[in-house]
Amino acid sequence: MPDTPELPPDPSDAAPADPAVLLARLASGERAERLRHTRKIPERAARTADVPSWVAPSLVGALLGEGVSTMWSHQVETAQAAHDREHVVVATGTASGKSLGYLVPVLTDLLDGAAAPTGRGVTALYLAPTKALAHDQLERVSRLALPGLRVATYDGDTPPEERRWIREHGAYVLTNPDLVHHSLLPGHERWAPFLRALRYVVVDECHVYRGVFGSHLALVLRRLRRVAARYRASPTFVFASATVADPGGHAARLIGMPVRPVTRDGSPRAAVTIGLWEPEIRPTADAESAVTARRRSAVAETADLLADLVDQGVQTVAFARSRVGAEVIAQAATRRSADRIGAAADLAAGPPMAGRGRAAGATDEPQAVIAAYRGGYLPEERRALEAALRSGRLRGLAATTALELGVDVAGLDAVLLAGWPGTVSSFWQQVGRAGRAGRESLAVLVAADDPLDGFLVRNPAAIFDRPVELAVVDPDNPHVLAPHLICAAAELPVTDADLAPDLFGAGAAPLLDRLVADGVLRRRPTGVYWARDEPPSASVSLRGIGQTVRVVERSTGRVVGLVDESRADSAVHPGAVHMHQGRSFVVTSLDLTEGSALAVAGDPGWSTQARSVSEFSLGSVREHLSSGPVTASFGEVTVRHQVVSFLRRLPDGEVIGEHPLDLPVRTLATTGVWWTLPEEVLLDAEVDEAGIPGALHAAEHAAIGMLPLVASADRWDIGGVSTARHPDTGLPTVLVYDGYPGGAGFAHRGYAALRDWLAATRDVVAQCPCPDGCPSCVQSPKCGNGNHPLDKGGAVRVLAQVVRLLEPGGTK
Ligand SMILES: [Zn+2]
Ligand SMILES: [Zn+2]
Repeated sequence: MPDTPELPPDPSDAAPADPAVLLARLASGERAERLRHTRKIPERAARTADVPSWVAPSLVGALLGEGVSTMWSHQVETAQAAHDREHVVVATGTASGKSLGYLVPVLTDLLDGAAAPTGRGVTALYLAPTKALAHDQLERVSRLALPGLRVATYDGDTPPEERRWIREHGAYVLTNPDLVHHSLLPGHERWAPFLRALRYVVVDECHVYRGVFGSHLALVLRRLRRVAARYRASPTFVFASATVADPGGHAARLIGMPVRPVTRDGSPRAAVTIGLWEPEIRPTADAESAVTARRRSAVAETADLLADLVDQGVQTVAFARSRVGAEVIAQAATRRSADRIGAAADLAAGPPMAGRGRAAGATDEPQAVIAAYRGGYLPEERRALEAALRSGRLRGLAATTALELGVDVAGLDAVLLAGWPGTVSSFWQQVGRAGRAGRESLAVLVAADDPLDGFLVRNPAAIFDRPVELAVVDPDNPHVLAPHLICAAAELPVTDADLAPDLFGAGAAPLLDRLVADGVLRRRPTGVYWARDEPPSASVSLRGIGQTVRVVERSTGRVVGLVDESRADSAVHPGAVHMHQGRSFVVTSLDLTEGSALAVAGDPGWSTQARSVSEFSLGSVREHLSSGPVTASFGEVTVRHQVVSFLRRLPDGEVIGEHPLDLPVRTLATTGVWWTLPEEVLLDAEVDEAGIPGALHAAEHAAIGMLPLVASADRWDIGGVSTARHPDTGLPTVLVYDGYPGGAGFAHRGYAALRDWLAATRDVVAQCPCPDGCPSCVQSPKCGNGNHPLDKGGAVRVLAQVVRLLEPGGTK
């Protein structure tokens, strides 16, 4: 049975047309070309199973009260594994009721434990990536009204007296990884009774723990296991995940121990028709910039489609990649819808209010109300939104992807995605938001002006016939591991037993030696200790590596943004225009030793773009392959980067000036993948000598844009440099690297999937209809070189040659 009670049928709206008919209507007339592909995903039948016999009678009763008498098969499989004390991950679709799978064993044992003399014979910890999810879990469990069960959220907002009560009496504590890192582990003595009884740790939405954040979480969980063991507890870990590739492997990397995957979804699903949509490319009139053609933005196109669907009575949610995007979609869709209806009804409607939509007056006419939803994740606000959607008052919603988590908006007629959401797994999460009980639904992905988006809508197999991405985690990264070793040493002395492969691993030994030599830690016969008083966790953030720079409004001292130190020079240099929650600020000074940039509010009417120079040297090679004249390597690289100037641009892209900057050279020691091929091979492929730099540079940009196809990374996590002759290789060389000290695992995925990655890169450039390069193929929004030089045709020839040589037998 689903997690939430069945909603009563909504009498206020007539059933909209068949999704295929709706899609055909959207794609009529001049838009016919834009619908690239249609795919119907058939319905899935339910598979049920009986509630296990060991489930606590009071829980069985409470579930019956909610109308739950049987469970979906994946819920029972998850529950049984956890009950048998086996670490388990359930990775099934949106709204498939994953939480019931772990709540059944957890609540059963907690109820048993409530009979202990302390009232707390068993405890469980629930970790969610957001506070909102922890509050949802609280509501979910409270609704069951189980006698004797003490459940509480514990987060940054919990007042001290309540914290103390929770530590002393709470049985099911709902919190987040940051609280475990900053509070529970450093103060574990105060949690001793809770930890002694700890039987379960639930890690919800575990697919979000990837990249650097995932590596941090993996080490927090190892620290938790180690501290729990000190209290003789070895909790069972239960993970819930969206569908990702190899969820068992991902969860196992997060805890360092094997985890059983449950992936066969037993919940039913109605059929969904999915359209892949590509806005048209139009020439741009701007002679100054290198951009001669540009695809219409996904945001503008999505707003049109949203208005069209809402006007046809189709309740629709549109997902945007940013808050600003969601607001623009709501505004533009409201305007379009109002214009049309206003013209038809000859109403003087006045300017529509964004976020409120257009009220058609106190008549019986249907109100086409479209709202933007951004932030404000208080439970009551979300409940109000859900209620407005359910009652039909709200017909259209533009939201950020944050809505993926924690808001129950399943049951809409249609979903629009303004741009690829980054991963196949998020794509299915968002598509899953459509489809009310048993009714077929529509989903449309609108491609953004980006190589990956263009590739996916033109190569639907890469969405529908491809396994979801691997979530990359690298807890061995010394830049992540070292700070956690320090935190661990402050919690309990680190001994040789902690260097076991399932805890910190052998790679921790040299790091400990170094930390001892540096005087950070102290070695005694009983282990390695933290040498100071204050807890080290306070200065370790789980979200990144190194420091963040605060952007501070000069007049008020208010923090109006956080920027990773590594990006500070290019994002918040003096003169930079910084956007925060839709407001513009101009940076007046940057002080990296203070970790702050001062800014004044105001919109100067232009945006800024940093120009930089980069060079790199290659370090030790960890993996290497060669195929004829092509070589590819994965290993350590040092990238030296200097922001040298910035451009001011008007909103239409016109450059109105370049201003030099005096900033130091920054060095990043990370991991990267690089490939080389001799000049003769390029000449054979009809790339002339003068064209080599532009061809390699264009290939590098497109490859960065396409790496998320093989690793669940963001293109902003990755950097690249290319050169016609690199001093370390003596050859034309293209490097793509992780944008974090020590690496984050993305470049390694690129190396492991090199041929597929570069073949897709070749295809996206070759298939792009623009004349000589556009943001959908070889232009990069983050190029430090102003997208110069770029040779689109040369890039296709280079990539085709490399891919051909990498084919089995390709060198003959
Ligand atoms: Zn193009
Ligand atoms: Zn570039």
